[in-house]
Amino acid sequence: MIRHETLNPPPHIYPINPWKIIETAFYPRFLAQTETLFSVGNGYFGFRGNFEEGRPTVQNGTYINGFHETWPIVYGETAFGFAQTGQTMLNVPDAKVIKLYVDDEPFYLPTAMLQIYERTLDMQSGTLDREVLWETPSGKQVLIESRRLVSLSQRHLAAISFQVTVLNDHAPVVICSEIIGDQPNQSGDKDPRQSKGFIHNPWISEYHYGRKNRLMLSHRVKNSGMVIACGTDHHLETECEYRRSSSCDGDYGKVEFSVNARMGKPIQIVKYIAYHTSRGGASPQELCERCERTLDRALKLGFTPLVKEQRAYLENFWQRADIEIEGDPENNPRPAGEMQQALRWNLFQILQACARAEGTGIPAKGLTGQTYEGHYFWDTEIYVLPFLTYTAPRIARNLLRFRHSMLDRARERAREVNQVGALFPWRTINGEEASSYYAAGTAQYHINADIMFALRKYAEITDDKALLFNEGAEMLVETARLWLDLGFFSKRQDGCFCIHSVTGPDEYTTVVNNNAYTNLMARENLWHAAQTVRFMRQNFAEHYANLVHRTGLAEEEDQQWQEAADRMFIPYDEELRIHPQDDSFLDREVWDLKETPKSRFPLLLYYHPLVIYRHQVIKQADVVLAMFLLGDEFTREQKHRNFDYYDPLTTGDSSLSACIQAIVSAEIGDAEKAVKYARYAVLMDLADVGGNVKDGCHIASMGGTWMVAVYGFAGMRDFDGNISFDPRLPEMLKSMRFALTLRGQRLEVRITREKTHYTLAGGDRLQVTHQGEELTLAVGETIERPNRPPAIPEGHEK
Ligand code: BGC
Repeated sequence: MIRHETLNPPPHIYPINPWKIIETAFYPRFLAQTETLFSVGNGYFGFRGNFEEGRPTVQNGTYINGFHETWPIVYGETAFGFAQTGQTMLNVPDAKVIKLYVDDEPFYLPTAMLQIYERTLDMQSGTLDREVLWETPSGKQVLIESRRLVSLSQRHLAAISFQVTVLNDHAPVVICSEIIGDQPNQSGDKDPRQSKGFIHNPWISEYHYGRKNRLMLSHRVKNSGMVIACGTDHHLETECEYRRSSSCDGDYGKVEFSVNARMGKPIQIVKYIAYHTSRGGASPQELCERCERTLDRALKLGFTPLVKEQRAYLENFWQRADIEIEGDPENNPRPAGEMQQALRWNLFQILQACARAEGTGIPAKGLTGQTYEGHYFWDTEIYVLPFLTYTAPRIARNLLRFRHSMLDRARERAREVNQVGALFPWRTINGEEASSYYAAGTAQYHINADIMFALRKYAEITDDKALLFNEGAEMLVETARLWLDLGFFSKRQDGCFCIHSVTGPDEYTTVVNNNAYTNLMARENLWHAAQTVRFMRQNFAEHYANLVHRTGLAEEEDQQWQEAADRMFIPYDEELRIHPQDDSFLDREVWDLKETPKSRFPLLLYYHPLVIYRHQVIKQADVVLAMFLLGDEFTREQKHRNFDYYDPLTTGDSSLSACIQAIVSAEIGDAEKAVKYARYAVLMDLADVGGNVKDGCHIASMGGTWMVAVYGFAGMRDFDGNISFDPRLPEMLKSMRFALTLRGQRLEVRITREKTHYTLAGGDRLQVTHQGEELTLAVGETIERPNRPPAIPEGHEK
């Protein structure tokens, strides 16, 4: 079901541009949204798009991936095995503030007379630029040009160039650069998705100092014990006379430049910002020293080379990851233009969420907001890893290794819920389950299978045996053990293996028996574990011995996994000829979505969970997602029937849905729905279709939009590591072009309305299938084939 229409921001203020997000006027109505849209980050830390002057702001935010406070979860009524410790990503000391005073009057956008205003997020240079011409009440024309970047190549470094020129007069100018500690956390009283404000002050101020142009603050976090240091340094360039003063206490530091500005003479300040953090192992002094080193190196390098380095990083990224689309000139070019801009911005935001996420996961909102408390979910493995596996395998590997680093905690968690093996937490930062709502949280055991699914794809596409045989195999063994222990062979189901009391991806239907998605994915997990273990036993004795040593694996275990998988119960309704979402789903009353007022969505904010749970109403793709991920296990007919049944029940209250609905609509030949869902998914954040971009980017949906292009429009499938295409370019597009990295080789795909061109631009030889025909590409070779329209089973023509 498609509920919202896309909201169109004023096109003269936010013009379409293929590589930039531009704001041509200060537009306070969109302040909360643009704070997210203009975010910059590198996966280790990120700044919301707040103005340098620090005001006005809806949510001022600086976040460090994984940097959090813990707190005891207090239950009114508790029970055995409930999650104990909440985790909240903190809003850390803000170092991006640079205040400006001319004639002692503060520059403040809402009241300033603006002759020029333009803010641009440039996705090729990785910078956020702003140009403002401010006319002060006394008639002085002040040109303010700033450029901000969070370095992708230097993990701990950000820099801001801030240049002020009084164009028509001289004036006393004060530029005050600050670090402000003790930042408030976002606190969502009514919306459970939002983050937690604290009653206690989580910050303990530690070592701090100011020396010349340099400021240094460090803090320890009260409960989690984590430590952070934030340092800044400044380089001033001007022909005008100036004085500098600075001060620094535990929570606040400033360096102030008082300049006698002369007409037309620029005053440029470059502020370098460094963050270093530790889980508690490194002392505040040690982290300050690390900041010192980062700052020393940055000062030596200088701003312009830093900008160059950033551009080079991005050039490399776009070469591997870009999706270029061309609108049909016969059609209205606007939708294709919007789609291009949003698609690139989505990919750019994913990069900003994970490029330097080393030893951490990807928070659901990246580093653009505190909603979902900076937690890692299955979003990473099912929605973002496909993009990374095919375009940035190194980052994909880091993320899988990070999951492995949580394996011991997952083993403990399995014990806490009375199972063997390992159970990965539904949501977490530090590896402990942080979901205090077990029905729609802990019960989502499918996360185990989701992680293993991503591992399998990654291993097949990259051929990274080292990861598979070490971290991978260990996780496979422990997750398979959990499934075998969790389910049972049911006499009432002809001895089939059933899994009860779990929640599937659809959080509007909880704690059910035999959720089809879970059973299918668990089956895949069990098969994969059995296969991998046998393969290692037969071919890689040393790796196998290691695995046995690490897991205590017994000879007969893979047989047991195989049997459970082979006899897995997959719900199927003979009468409707569909896969019921679970054993009791079809017995529930159907929710009347057509009669539900728009104002009552998302349902979770307006109805008691029990009301939702007793109906057939779906938050997000569940069976439909399984049909995409495990598409080779469904017939075409089943795909049509399942989609026709579930689509009208799907609210799309989760942003993880539209992209999947788009891919499956495209596959079953419903071109109209495919485009509608695709637009919905692609524009989710840039056009604020979901209505909550103010709270941060929907990183999973962003990953989903790459899948819409590649799995949806190009019809790629990669079952068992075999790459096939069945292009279904929507009418609004004339062509689409993208590249994939496959086992170290580079495949370029260009699809036009008539033909598809495959080029092996790097590597040796590659086999791909185009609409059933096998093609073998030699390096440098291009093969083109005509596109046939997809076959649609009888009775399903639209
Ligand atoms: C979705 C989950 C998702 C989480 C974080 C929820 O609304 O239902 O599937 O993991 O958001 O994005």
